[in-house]
Amino acid sequence: MKIGFPRAMFYYDTFPFWAGYFEALGIELKVSPRTNREVLERGLKKASDETCLPIKLLSGHLASLPSDVEAVFLPRMVSIEKKTYMCPKILGLPESVLASVPEGLPVISVDINWREGKAQVQKALEKLGEQLGKSKGEARRAFAKAQKYQQVYEEMRRSGQGFEESMRYFEGLGKPDGKGVSDAGLGSYGGSHLTSSERLPTIALIGHPYLTYESYGNLNLLSKLKAKAKLVFMENVEQVQIEDHLKDLRKPLFWSQGKRLLGAGHSYAINQYVDGVIYLSCFGCGTDSMTQDMLARRARTHHKPYMVLTLDEHSGEAGVITRVEAFLDMIERKRIGLSNKSGYSSSSIGEINR
Ligand code: SF4
Repeated sequence: MKIGFPRAMFYYDTFPFWAGYFEALGIELKVSPRTNREVLERGLKKASDETCLPIKLLSGHLASLPSDVEAVFLPRMVSIEKKTYMCPKILGLPESVLASVPEGLPVISVDINWREGKAQVQKALEKLGEQLGKSKGEARRAFAKAQKYQQVYEEMRRSGQGFEESMRYFEGLGKPDGKGVSDAGLGSYGGSHLTSSERLPTIALIGHPYLTYESYGNLNLLSKLKAKAKLVFMENVEQVQIEDHLKDLRKPLFWSQGKRLLGAGHSYAINQYVDGVIYLSCFGCGTDSMTQDMLARRARTHHKPYMVLTLDEHSGEAGVITRVEAFLDMIERKRIGLSNKSGYSSSSIGEINR
């Protein structure tokens, strides 16, 4: 069986999990092509105008799935850890994007709620396995493999391996010549990602993975930054550190993504080897509207240069380049002692059409 998997939203943080699960069940996942103008156009036609860019891109990818798939997989990620929820737009999936699914293509879905504990997730995946004609035992083994793959992926990212490189590793699964993940995979990607001796400035790029690594959607921000700076990401920060950096909040954050963005962002805001923090956000994101401001306050307290880049489908490349260059110039002046300004800035881009 071939199941379509859109290269959007949950692809960017949980694809290895699903690759492990479906591989163990003998089902091939076929991922939609990389985002391009046509994919975005399809998404804009199908999705609601009011929704955020990542959901519009998801709609475009659903409408661009390979024609030989027999079904599409759209999980509902309710919660990825205890005591928090995903944002309401994610909770509303898959129903809110059903109009984008090609006519006649069945949708396979499952509710993943880590808030209720591992036993609950296992139960949900056993039920999903049953729908796919597999036994409980097979589904349980598939769950174990899914967790292992996700663990390997997260370890790869924490140790500094790039997103594309790590994902290629997992996208090879399921193909006849796919090598899969070796048992020795975990922990064998050592290497620290922060040192003091770099000549290039170190910039922390904080944002949702489905924006940070979506190169068409973010106007190739990563490659522009990589040419001029050493980059570190939210995924390089361990969960325990994230929790540690949120200990002083008067009330715990309710949204899983906001929690990760703020905790990781704060760890970089106080890190002496990080020269500046860029928060990558998108118009219409409710959780970002709060966390980007909370992080701005923390960055200001620690005199860390900080910039918010807000994207939507109208954002233009020239606008991004101008803002990034100005930010890096300011950091350079600060580094060589020409300026003692904190470098705090917050505004949106989007004035130049694509
Ligand atoms: S967290 Fe923000 S960007 Fe992500 S789906 Fe929700 S509203 Fe959109």
